[in-house]
Amino acid sequence: MLKVEANFQLGSLNTLKLECVAECYAHVSTTGELQEALSEARQRSANINVLGGGSNLILNRYLPGMTIHMGLQGRELLEESADDVVVRFQAGEEWHETVLWANNEGYFGLENLALIPGSVGAAPVQNIGAYGVEIAQLIECVHVVDSRNGDIRGLTAAECCFSYRNSLFKTSEGRHLIISAVDLRLSKRPVVNTSYPALREAVPKDAATPSDVLAAVVAVRQSKLPDPSIEANVGSFFKNPIVDRMTAEHLKGDYPDMPQYPVDANTVKLSAAWMIDQLGWRGVEEFGVSVSEKHALVIINKSARYASEVIEFTNKINSSVSEKYSVLLDREPELVGSG
Ligand SMILES: Cc1cc2nc3c(=O)[nH]c(=O)nc-3n(C[C@H](O)[C@H](O)[C@H](O)COP(=O)(O)OP(=O)(O)OC[C@H]3O[C@@H](n4cnc5c(N)ncnc54)[C@H](O)[C@@H]3O)c2cc1C
Repeated sequence: MLKVEANFQLGSLNTLKLECVAECYAHVSTTGELQEALSEARQRSANINVLGGGSNLILNRYLPGMTIHMGLQGRELLEESADDVVVRFQAGEEWHETVLWANNEGYFGLENLALIPGSVGAAPVQNIGAYGVEIAQLIECVHVVDSRNGDIRGLTAAECCFSYRNSLFKTSEGRHLIISAVDLRLSKRPVVNTSYPALREAVPKDAATPSDVLAAVVAVRQSKLPDPSIEANVGSFFKNPIVDRMTAEHLKGDYPDMPQYPVDANTVKLSAAWMIDQLGWRGVEEFGVSVSEKHALVIINKSARYASEVIEFTNKINSSVSEKYSVLLDREPELVGSG
């Protein structure tokens, strides 16, 4: 039977290690328990928060409503042909374990997304991406439960409206959809994507295998990113801003060294890390929060107890970027709760 706990501490369930109390908390291990938690929330007219690994959340002191901790486990081979397979992964499966399992089975395509913390269910929410690959490219179907009425349905990749670190699930039209499982189409033929320069340098020049790429991604990430189990963080704190071409050209005129990456004919992606670095923020610490020495996009919680301290510090970074470059940085992790 479902156990619902009141005033539940979430401090150990978020990688930024912020103190937060959930009004109601339920860990769900089956679809039945998920339905039960949703129906209980509806009876109480409580809003719903979904928690996976807590690696992309900034939790305020108090989280009203029902917090559902996703624990659905399991994998199932749905289809197999000479070229590929479709595998269903339940939402509570750990993401990096999923990448390792698929590679070990000879199902390829996930290697570039190795070592991203968190759960399978959260992966489509921000369309996780790294080293030239986004999960959107591999999605066959995202299974969801509608929190308003418990209805179950499957969404195609097109229906999920994926874009850079974004999807339907982050919008007002998709917020009520809880992901229970994700079907991925994976290749049985070795797939090697070394388009990302740091990766190209790290894998053997000839005959690189998917396992070489996986090992290289793990090594590059371990050298560049702080481990959240040692230094509390949520990975990239800001998204790389996307600006129109004219703005990009003006900036290039003023700052010839500024890295720029064309997205399409009209827009260009800028490097948030480069701007933060240029402004001398790397290593700076205030309010018990600092910019990582390893990576200027990563904010480390050294001793702050509450989200307000993280927000105060990162607002200062954003203001200084905006003053110098006239570019506003969007936060990547979601700020939830109150206080
Ligand atoms: C060191 C580090 C490195 C990282 N590197 C990357 C990277 O390279 N690329 C990248 O894209 N991200 C990266 N991240 C961010 C993060 O790991 C991913 O966004 C991950 O998918 C979050 O998973 P989670 O289970 O921890 O989600 P949570 O933090 O628990 O939740 C994130 C959001 O998804 C929602 N959510 C969670 N589960 C579900 C569900 N089943 N149904 C509906 N909504 C749900 C939550 O309500 C919340 O809004 C990194 C984070 C860290 C700490």
